[in-house]
Amino acid sequence: MATCKLCGSDCSPWVLEISAGICEKCDIAEFGSSTISHKLSQRYSDAYTGAHALVVVGKTIKGVGVALAVIIVIGGCAMGSKGGREMDGIVVGISFALAFLAGIPTYILGILIAAQSQTQLATLDTAVNSSRHLTDDDVGKILFKRFSL
Ligand SMILES: [Zn+2]
Repeated sequence: MATCKLCGSDCSPWVLEISAGICEKCDIAEFGSSTISHKLSQRYSDAYTGAHALVVVGKTIKGVGVALAVIIVIGGCAMGSKGGREMDGIVVGISFALAFLAGIPTYILGILIAAQSQTQLATLDTAVNSSRHLTDDDVGKILFKRFSL
């Protein structure tokens, strides 16, 4: 535990770090409103923006995986239809194998990234809802942003 610069009361180090060394009570007394809750709100809002961006990245990568597989299969079928009769099946077969090899790992990567971002969102929800430094109003504003993204 660290102590507040102004009143000397015990305070958690991270609260002092974001409020230039003073506790929450002194912060409100000095500035009329809490810099701590303001900065915390800002932090959670930014974190939600980051997590939502990651959701989009995950979805995009999943889409790329599907598109890649489709393009390879179409390309393989187009090539197969031009070759001799005996080669057709082999070329199409190889294109399906390539499509699986390229498409499935890409799709799985997208799923993993999307799952990671959902975990981040859930962790943030817990942090916001259980924070002792945010008023119900602050929590409401942050969650409004979380669901409007
Ligand atoms: Zn103080």
